[in-house]
Amino acid sequence: MDLNPLELRRYARHLILPEVGPAGQQKLRAARVLCLGAGGLGSPAALYLAAAGVGRLGLVDFDTVELSNLQRQVLHGTPDVGRPKVESACATLSRLNPEVDLVPHATRLAAANALDLIRAYDVVVDGTDNFVARYLANDACVLLAKPYVYGAISRWEGQASLFAPHLGAPCYRCLFPEPPAPGVAPSCAEAGVVGVVPGIIGCIQAAETIKFILGQGTSLMGRMLLFDALGMRFKELKLRRDPACPVCGEHPTIREVREIAPVCEAGPALSSDEVTVQDMRRALADTALGVTVVDVREPEEWAIAQIAGTLKLALSELPRRVGELDPDRSYYLHCKSGQRSLRAVQWLKARGFRQVKSVRGGILAWAEEVDASLPRY
Ligand code: ZN
Repeated sequence: MDLNPLELRRYARHLILPEVGPAGQQKLRAARVLCLGAGGLGSPAALYLAAAGVGRLGLVDFDTVELSNLQRQVLHGTPDVGRPKVESACATLSRLNPEVDLVPHATRLAAANALDLIRAYDVVVDGTDNFVARYLANDACVLLAKPYVYGAISRWEGQASLFAPHLGAPCYRCLFPEPPAPGVAPSCAEAGVVGVVPGIIGCIQAAETIKFILGQGTSLMGRMLLFDALGMRFKELKLRRDPACPVCGEHPTIREVREIAPVCEAGPALSSDEVTVQDMRRALADTALGVTVVDVREPEEWAIAQIAGTLKLALSELPRRVGELDPDRSYYLHCKSGQRSLRAVQWLKARGFRQVKSVRGGILAWAEEVDASLPRY
């Protein structure tokens, strides 16, 4: 179907490009793109895809908007705090371009729904922030032969690629066959991120998606683009398919979508290396227990919030200051959410400490369960 007069005006700057033109604009209108996550990466990606005239845009997110999201998740505004993200996102996107068919999926991507969700779309844009969703999305895209536009961010850095084994490019598992061990990878909440970094990476994902739909240019297939905002540099890694890849290799062992064990989220059961904030409270209240509570967060975090009676020893200082701790004494280590303290426990146990435990949930759990007046960040 030809473009109507309003479309001719709206997309005028596309139509004069030789790589787009009316035929390309019609391809965009016919395209169906699924954004996994309406957060830091999903925000810029969805905004530019909607603005570009992608015909159908699906958004998968089960979260509600929080104040701490607004520093980077530009789909949402201050009045949206508390609202489901897909609802807030659709309101913003329909204001930008009412011609787009927006499909909110207010659900968590799971093994049970991944194939059905993704099957109905032509391209998948990864705006997820956890390994469970990332491996699910990758495996579902490989099994359904859908291109998977990858993006990831942390602190001042980001990366992007386009995974598509059905087109000869590697998949995510070709690079990382298995997820990292629990506690190894910090979550976004743990590591922090500068808002503009997902802004840039999400825009790169949108550009890759648009190029893919148009069939123009050189895509990121087989390449990982690395971005360092602090040094303001882009680098590139060449990626290869792994013939032994468990999902896209010659003898795949993964033939259905299954969920990996959570990596970043704390599981329901305490590990033997963990105690609860209630245990920490007892240790702080009763010195006769002989437990020292150590705050392994960084000094800039202590300035925001701290718990009285704790020893301040930042994880980054631990190798240098480990001599201040006694391997025969008992320690509870806490950080912001319990990931870094778990790493610190493992590090100390490898050096002969036997009675070290990580406080699950960290200072966030403390604010939740013990002291609601503590600032959250
Ligand atoms: Zn693979």
